[in-house]
Amino acid sequence: MNVDPVEIKKFDSLAQRWWDRNGEFRPLHDINEIRVRFISKHTKIPGSTVLDVGCGGGILTESLANLGAIPTGIDPAQGPLTVAKLHAVEMGLQDRIRYLQTTAEELAKDEKQFDVVTAMEIVEHVPDFAETVRALASLTKPGGNVFLSTINRKPIAYVVAILGAEYVLNVLPRGTHEYRKFIKPSELAQAARNAHLSVQRVQGYRYNPIMRSTSLVPDASVNYFLHAQKL
Ligand code: SAH
Repeated sequence: MNVDPVEIKKFDSLAQRWWDRNGEFRPLHDINEIRVRFISKHTKIPGSTVLDVGCGGGILTESLANLGAIPTGIDPAQGPLTVAKLHAVEMGLQDRIRYLQTTAEELAKDEKQFDVVTAMEIVEHVPDFAETVRALASLTKPGGNVFLSTINRKPIAYVVAILGAEYVLNVLPRGTHEYRKFIKPSELAQAARNAHLSVQRVQGYRYNPIMRSTSLVPDASVNYFLHAQKL
Protein backbone atom coordinates (compact mmCIF):
# COMPACT_ATOMS: atom_id res chain seq x y z
CA MET A 1 0.00 0.00 0.00
CA ASN A 2 1.23 3.45 -0.87
CA VAL A 3 0.83 4.78 2.69
CA ASP A 4 3.54 5.54 5.25
CA PRO A 5 2.30 4.52 8.74
CA VAL A 6 4.62 7.06 10.38
CA GLU A 7 2.87 9.83 8.42
CA ILE A 8 -0.58 8.56 9.39
CA LYS A 9 0.43 8.48 13.06
CA LYS A 10 1.64 12.08 12.87
CA PHE A 11 -1.68 13.34 11.53
CA ASP A 12 -3.77 11.03 13.72
CA SER A 13 -2.15 12.24 16.92
CA LEU A 14 -2.89 15.90 16.19
CA ALA A 15 -6.31 15.44 14.61
CA GLN A 16 -8.36 17.09 17.37
CA ARG A 17 -6.41 20.31 16.74
CA TRP A 18 -7.35 20.44 13.05
CA TRP A 19 -9.83 23.30 13.19
CA ASP A 20 -7.87 25.46 15.63
CA ARG A 21 -6.85 28.31 13.36
CA ASN A 22 -3.97 29.15 15.68
CA GLY A 23 -2.90 25.55 16.27
CA GLU A 24 -0.64 23.05 14.53
CA PHE A 25 -2.60 23.24 11.28
CA ARG A 26 -2.64 27.03 11.12
CA PRO A 27 -0.74 27.12 7.79
CA LEU A 28 -3.47 25.03 6.13
CA HIS A 29 -6.06 27.57 7.30
CA ASP A 30 -3.92 30.49 6.18
CA ILE A 31 -3.32 29.09 2.68
CA ASN A 32 -6.86 27.87 2.13
CA GLU A 33 -8.21 30.99 0.50
CA ILE A 34 -5.47 31.23 -2.13
CA ARG A 35 -5.90 27.60 -3.16
CA VAL A 36 -9.68 27.90 -3.36
CA ARG A 37 -9.20 30.94 -5.58
CA PHE A 38 -6.65 29.11 -7.74
CA ILE A 39 -8.90 26.08 -8.20
CA SER A 40 -12.02 28.18 -8.89
CA LYS A 41 -10.16 30.26 -11.44
CA HIS A 42 -9.26 27.22 -13.53
CA THR A 43 -12.35 25.05 -13.21
CA LYS A 44 -16.06 25.32 -12.52
CA ILE A 45 -16.84 24.41 -8.92
CA PRO A 46 -20.65 24.79 -8.54
CA GLY A 47 -22.35 21.52 -9.39
CA SER A 48 -19.08 19.65 -9.99
CA THR A 49 -18.21 16.38 -8.31
CA VAL A 50 -14.93 16.87 -6.47
CA LEU A 51 -12.68 14.27 -4.91
CA ASP A 52 -10.46 15.79 -2.21
CA VAL A 53 -7.64 13.29 -1.68
CA GLY A 54 -5.92 13.40 1.72
CA CYS A 55 -8.61 15.77 2.94
CA GLY A 56 -7.52 15.65 6.59
CA GLY A 57 -10.01 17.50 8.78
CA GLY A 58 -11.76 18.90 5.71
CA ILE A 59 -10.58 22.51 5.48
CA LEU A 60 -10.58 22.58 1.66
CA THR A 61 -13.43 20.07 1.35
CA GLU A 62 -15.82 22.31 3.30
CA SER A 63 -14.83 25.41 1.33
CA LEU A 64 -15.57 23.61 -1.93
CA ALA A 65 -18.93 22.39 -0.57
CA ASN A 66 -19.78 25.99 0.38
CA LEU A 67 -19.09 27.01 -3.22
CA GLY A 68 -21.61 24.48 -4.48
CA ALA A 69 -19.40 21.48 -5.24
CA ILE A 70 -20.47 17.92 -4.53
CA PRO A 71 -17.39 16.78 -2.62
CA THR A 72 -16.08 13.44 -1.44
CA GLY A 73 -13.19 13.69 1.01
CA ILE A 74 -10.87 10.72 1.48
CA ASP A 75 -7.98 10.18 3.87
CA PRO A 76 -6.28 7.01 5.14
CA ALA A 77 -6.03 8.46 8.67
CA GLN A 78 -8.97 7.82 10.95
CA GLY A 79 -8.48 10.71 13.40
CA PRO A 80 -8.62 13.54 10.87
CA LEU A 81 -11.61 11.95 9.13
CA THR A 82 -13.53 11.67 12.41
CA VAL A 83 -12.86 15.35 13.00
CA ALA A 84 -13.91 16.16 9.42
CA LYS A 85 -17.23 14.38 9.86
CA LEU A 86 -17.97 16.04 13.20
CA HIS A 87 -17.05 19.46 11.85
CA ALA A 88 -19.31 18.96 8.82
CA VAL A 89 -22.20 18.26 11.21
CA GLU A 90 -21.37 21.40 13.17
CA MET A 91 -21.47 23.41 9.92
CA GLY A 92 -24.67 21.73 8.67
CA LEU A 93 -22.74 20.24 5.73
CA GLN A 94 -23.13 16.56 6.64
CA ASP A 95 -25.56 15.88 3.78
CA ARG A 96 -23.37 17.66 1.27
CA ILE A 97 -20.00 15.99 1.91
CA ARG A 98 -19.18 12.29 1.85
CA TYR A 99 -16.10 11.26 3.83
CA LEU A 100 -14.40 7.89 3.32
CA GLN A 101 -11.37 6.36 5.02
CA THR A 102 -9.38 5.20 2.02
CA THR A 103 -6.59 6.11 -0.39
CA ALA A 104 -6.76 7.32 -3.98
CA GLU A 105 -5.14 4.04 -5.06
CA GLU A 106 -7.88 1.98 -3.37
CA LEU A 107 -10.73 4.16 -4.62
CA ALA A 108 -9.33 4.00 -8.15
CA LYS A 109 -10.23 0.30 -8.20
CA ASP A 110 -13.90 1.37 -8.39
CA GLU A 111 -15.03 2.74 -11.71
CA LYS A 112 -16.26 6.09 -10.40
CA GLN A 113 -14.68 9.26 -11.75
CA PHE A 114 -14.93 12.88 -10.69
CA ASP A 115 -15.05 16.23 -12.51
CA VAL A 116 -12.33 17.63 -10.28
CA VAL A 117 -9.67 15.90 -8.17
CA THR A 118 -7.65 17.81 -5.59
CA ALA A 119 -4.62 16.61 -3.64
CA MET A 120 -3.28 19.46 -1.56
CA GLU A 121 -0.12 19.07 0.53
CA ILE A 122 -0.31 15.29 0.14
CA VAL A 123 2.26 13.99 -2.32
CA GLU A 124 5.18 14.93 -0.04
CA HIS A 125 3.74 12.52 2.55
CA VAL A 126 3.34 9.40 0.41
CA PRO A 127 6.02 6.74 -0.30
CA ASP A 128 5.59 6.88 -4.10
CA PHE A 129 4.11 10.11 -5.43
CA ALA A 130 4.03 8.89 -9.04
CA GLU A 131 1.73 6.06 -8.00
CA THR A 132 -0.58 8.56 -6.29
CA VAL A 133 -0.59 10.76 -9.41
CA ARG A 134 -1.58 7.74 -11.51
CA ALA A 135 -4.49 7.07 -9.14
CA LEU A 136 -5.54 10.75 -9.26
CA ALA A 137 -5.57 10.58 -13.05
CA SER A 138 -7.68 7.45 -13.18
CA LEU A 139 -10.16 9.02 -10.75
CA THR A 140 -10.66 12.01 -13.07
CA LYS A 141 -13.26 12.10 -15.84
CA PRO A 142 -11.93 12.74 -19.34
CA GLY A 143 -11.76 16.53 -19.67
CA GLY A 144 -11.72 16.87 -15.88
CA ASN A 145 -9.18 18.80 -13.84
CA VAL A 146 -6.57 17.76 -11.28
CA PHE A 147 -5.02 20.17 -8.77
CA LEU A 148 -2.01 19.40 -6.62
CA SER A 149 0.05 21.46 -4.25
CA THR A 150 3.36 20.57 -2.66
CA ILE A 151 6.84 21.83 -1.79
CA ASN A 152 9.84 22.01 -4.12
CA ARG A 153 13.03 20.09 -3.30
CA LYS A 154 15.31 23.13 -3.37
CA PRO A 155 17.66 24.34 -0.62
CA ILE A 156 15.57 27.51 -0.22
CA ALA A 157 12.54 25.33 0.50
CA TYR A 158 14.51 23.58 3.25
CA VAL A 159 15.32 26.95 4.78
CA VAL A 160 11.76 28.32 4.50
CA ALA A 161 9.51 25.27 4.95
CA ILE A 162 11.55 23.25 7.46
CA LEU A 163 14.04 25.50 9.30
CA GLY A 164 11.80 28.57 9.22
CA ALA A 165 8.38 27.01 9.75
CA GLU A 166 9.31 24.15 12.11
CA TYR A 167 12.34 25.48 14.03
CA VAL A 168 12.35 29.28 14.02
CA LEU A 169 8.72 30.36 13.84
CA ASN A 170 7.22 27.12 15.16
CA VAL A 171 4.14 27.37 12.95
CA LEU A 172 4.39 23.65 12.14
CA PRO A 173 5.28 20.76 14.48
CA ARG A 174 8.89 19.60 14.10
CA GLY A 175 9.11 16.61 11.80
CA THR A 176 6.07 17.59 9.70
CA HIS A 177 8.16 17.63 6.54
CA GLU A 178 11.19 15.73 5.31
CA TYR A 179 13.37 17.44 2.72
CA ARG A 180 14.05 14.28 0.73
CA LYS A 181 10.31 13.86 0.14
CA PHE A 182 9.89 17.28 -1.44
CA ILE A 183 9.21 17.13 -5.17
CA LYS A 184 10.53 19.26 -8.00
CA PRO A 185 7.86 20.69 -10.34
CA SER A 186 9.60 18.94 -13.26
CA GLU A 187 9.27 15.58 -11.46
CA LEU A 188 5.61 16.14 -10.62
CA ALA A 189 4.88 17.30 -14.18
CA GLN A 190 6.62 14.21 -15.57
CA ALA A 191 4.55 11.95 -13.30
CA ALA A 192 1.41 13.75 -14.51
CA ARG A 193 2.35 13.31 -18.16
CA ASN A 194 3.17 9.64 -17.58
CA ALA A 195 -0.36 9.29 -16.17
CA HIS A 196 -1.79 10.80 -19.39
CA LEU A 197 -2.54 14.15 -17.82
CA SER A 198 -1.89 17.33 -19.73
CA VAL A 199 -0.07 19.83 -17.49
CA GLN A 200 -1.77 23.21 -17.77
CA ARG A 201 0.32 25.23 -15.36
CA VAL A 202 2.75 25.20 -12.48
CA GLN A 203 2.12 28.19 -10.23
CA GLY A 204 4.32 29.23 -7.33
CA TYR A 205 2.77 30.64 -4.22
CA ARG A 206 4.23 32.24 -1.11
CA TYR A 207 3.05 31.99 2.45
CA ASN A 208 4.23 34.51 5.00
CA PRO A 209 3.54 32.91 8.39
CA ILE A 210 4.22 36.12 10.30
CA MET A 211 1.76 38.23 8.34
CA ARG A 212 -0.35 35.13 7.70
CA SER A 213 -0.63 36.29 4.11
CA THR A 214 -0.30 34.47 0.81
CA SER A 215 0.35 35.46 -2.79
CA LEU A 216 0.88 33.88 -6.18
CA VAL A 217 4.48 34.31 -7.32
CA PRO A 218 6.30 33.60 -10.60
CA ASP A 219 8.85 31.27 -9.04
CA ALA A 220 7.98 27.84 -7.70
CA SER A 221 11.09 27.43 -5.56
CA VAL A 222 9.18 26.72 -2.31
CA ASN A 223 5.41 26.13 -2.47
CA TYR A 224 3.61 25.54 -5.74
CA PHE A 225 0.42 24.33 -7.38
CA LEU A 226 0.20 22.10 -10.42
CA HIS A 227 -2.94 22.08 -12.54
CA ALA A 228 -3.42 19.30 -15.08
CA GLN A 229 -6.24 18.13 -17.28
CA LYS A 230 -7.21 14.57 -18.06
CA LEU A 231 -7.04 14.02 -21.80
N1 SAH B 1 -5.25 18.15 2.06
C1 SAH B 1 -5.51 18.68 3.38
C2 SAH B 1 -4.64 18.06 4.47
C3 SAH B 1 -3.14 18.13 4.25
S1 SAH B 1 -2.23 17.38 5.57
C4 SAH B 1 -5.33 20.18 3.33
O1 SAH B 1 -4.48 20.64 2.57
O2 SAH B 1 -6.02 20.91 4.05
C5 SAH B 1 -1.74 15.84 4.84
C6 SAH B 1 -2.84 14.79 4.84
O3 SAH B 1 -2.38 13.70 4.02
C7 SAH B 1 -3.15 14.16 6.20
O4 SAH B 1 -4.53 14.26 6.46
C8 SAH B 1 -2.72 12.71 6.04
O5 SAH B 1 -3.49 11.81 6.81
C9 SAH B 1 -2.89 12.51 4.55
N2 SAH B 1 -2.13 11.39 3.99
C10 SAH B 1 -1.04 10.78 4.45
N3 SAH B 1 -0.67 9.77 3.65
C11 SAH B 1 -1.58 9.73 2.63
C12 SAH B 1 -1.76 8.90 1.49
N4 SAH B 1 -0.91 7.92 1.23
N5 SAH B 1 -2.80 9.15 0.67
C13 SAH B 1 -3.66 10.18 0.94
N6 SAH B 1 -3.53 10.98 2.00
C14 SAH B 1 -2.52 10.77 2.84
